[in-house]
Amino acid sequence: MNIVLFGPPGVGKGTQGLKLAEAFKIIHLAMGDLLRAAVAEKTTLGLKAKAFMDAGKLVTDDLVIGLIEERIIADDAKKGFLLDGFPRNVAQATALNEMLAKHSLKLDHVVFMDASKEALLTRLSGRLTCSACGFGFHRHYSPPKIEGRCDKCGGTLVQRADDKEEVISQRLEVYAEQTAPLLDFYGNEDMFCKVNAEAGMDEVYTSLLEAVKG
Ligand code: AMP
Repeated sequence: MNIVLFGPPGVGKGTQGLKLAEAFKIIHLAMGDLLRAAVAEKTTLGLKAKAFMDAGKLVTDDLVIGLIEERIIADDAKKGFLLDGFPRNVAQATALNEMLAKHSLKLDHVVFMDASKEALLTRLSGRLTCSACGFGFHRHYSPPKIEGRCDKCGGTLVQRADDKEEVISQRLEVYAEQTAPLLDFYGNEDMFCKVNAEAGMDEVYTSLLEAVKG
C-alpha cells in the first residue's frame, strides 16, 4: 500500500505516519527526517538544505525529488511506503506522479490531516524531538516519562530550531502558499480523503485507519 500523508506543520503527520506505517508494515519516509539526517551528517545535500530549513522555507525541488525516487524503489519499499512531508507543492506532486508511472507504481491513498491554526501553534510551540532517534513528544499532551529524555532510546529531547516562534509563522505561511494548493491537485481523486486531526492522538489514529482501510 502506498500512502501520501499531508497537512500543515504540527498537525501530527510524523507521529501518526510512523504508527500507520508500522501497522501496515510499509516504510515511513518523512522528508523532514531525511533532510535533518543529511544536515547532521553534513552531506552535500545537507549543507545545501540547512539554510532553507533554518529559515522555515522549502528546500529546492531538485534536492528533495531525487531523494524520494531512490527510496521508493529500494528493496525495503516493496510492500509499500508512506510519504510524510512529500510532496509539499504542486511541482513535487507532478514529479511524484511521473516517477510513480515510470516505475509502474501508484498511490492508494492521499490523506489530508486538517487542524485549525490555533491548534497548530499550540502543538508546534510545545513540541520536543529526540536528538538521537527523532521521536516526538509534547510538553503538555504527550510528555516523556523522564523530563528531557526520550522514552524510546534515552536520547536528549530538544526543541527543533524551526519550532521556534519566529520560524513557525514563516512555515505556516509557506504551507498556505505552496502546500495547501495540493488540496486542489488531489481533492477530486477517489484516493483522496480528509481527516480531522484536532482530536486526541488515539481518535485521530482511528480516523486515519478508517480512511486507509475504507
Ligand atoms: P518537517 O519535519 O516535515 O516539518 O520539515 C522540516 C523542514 O524540512 C521544512 O520546513 C522544509 O525546510 C524541509 N522540507 C521537508 N519536506 C520538504 C519538501 N517536500 N520540500 C522541500 N522542503 C522540505
